[in-house]
Amino acid sequence: MTKPRIGWIGLGHMGVPMTANLQKAGFPLMVWNRTRNKAEAVTGAFVAASPAELASSADIIVTMVSDDASQDEVLFGPGGLAEGLSAGQVVINMGTISPAASRSAAERLGKLGVHVLDAPVAGSVKPATDGTLVILVGGEADILARCQPIFDVLGKRTFHFGPAGQGANAKLSINMLLGILLQGVGESLTFGEAAGLDRSMLLEMFAQTPCASPIMAMKAPSLNAGDYPPAFPLKHMAKDFRLMLDAVKGSDTSLIEVASANFRHAEDAGLGDQDVMAVIKVLER
Ligand code: NAP
Repeated sequence: MTKPRIGWIGLGHMGVPMTANLQKAGFPLMVWNRTRNKAEAVTGAFVAASPAELASSADIIVTMVSDDASQDEVLFGPGGLAEGLSAGQVVINMGTISPAASRSAAERLGKLGVHVLDAPVAGSVKPATDGTLVILVGGEADILARCQPIFDVLGKRTFHFGPAGQGANAKLSINMLLGILLQGVGESLTFGEAAGLDRSMLLEMFAQTPCASPIMAMKAPSLNAGDYPPAFPLKHMAKDFRLMLDAVKGSDTSLIEVASANFRHAEDAGLGDQDVMAVIKVLER
C-alpha cells in the first residue's frame, strides 16, 4: 500500500530525529519550519513555503512546536495550516500543549471536516532517535487506527486515553512526575554535597538502591560533569509546569508549586536553553 505523505511542522530537538525515522521507514516527507534553514537541512524532503502550502499537499500533518502560542500560530496564523486544509485530512499535534488548546484545535478544525489527534510523547531525544517514544493519544479511535503506522515508526507503545485533550492530560500527568523527580534528585544531591559527600559516589549509590531509575542513569553523566547540553530544554519543563498549575487550579498542589517555582527561577536565571537537569544549579546556589 502507498504510504501517506507526511507534512511535518517543527524541526527542533525532537522533530529532526522523528522525521529522520519516518524517512527511513519510507514515508514521503514535506517539511516547514519557522527558521527555514532547519527545514532545508532535511535531505530528501520537500520544503514548503508556508504551513498552508504544506497542508494542501500532505495527507497527514504533524506539528511538533513549542507551546500553545506557537501551535496556534502554525494552525490559525497568517499562512497557517487552516488556510490549506480540506475535509478528510488529519492533523496530529505531538508537542506538549494544554488540554484546552488541544480540544479547541480539534473543535475548530473539525468544523472544516479535518480530524485532529493530540499525541504528545514521553521520552526525549534518545528515544526519538531510537524510535522508542511513548505516544499518548486523545481523539477518535478510527483516526488513531489510520495513524498507527506512523506511531509505530516513532514509538514503542501507543496509549489511547480517550477523546481530544486526553493525550495532553496524560502528558501533563507524566511530566508532573518527571519534574518532581528531577527536583528530588537535585535536592538529594545538593543536600549530600552540602554535608561533604562526593556527587559521583552519591549517584553510584542511588543506582544500587530501589530508588534507582532510568532517568537518573540518563542524567548522571551531565550531573557528574556539571554540564547540561540540552536534550529536553529546561524552558519546556517550566512551560509544562505552567500548564499543570493552570490545569489543577484549586487542588492541593504543594509539590508542583515548589518544583514549578524552582524551574521558573532557573529560567529567569538564563538556564532555559540548557537541559532540564540544569535546575540543580538553582538549588546549588
Ligand atoms: P525545540 O527544540 O525548542 O523546537 C521548537 C520548535 O518549535 C522549533 O521548530 C521552533 O521553530 C518551533 N516554534 C517555536 N515557536 C514557534 C512559532 N511561534 N511559530 C512556528 N514555529 C515555532 O523543542 P523540542 O525539544 O523539539 O520540543 C518540541 C515540543 O515537544 C515541546 O512542546 C516540548 O515540550 C515537547 N517535548 C520535548 C521533549 C524533549 O526532550 N526535547 C520531549 C517530549 C516532549 P524555530 O526552529 O524557528 O525556533
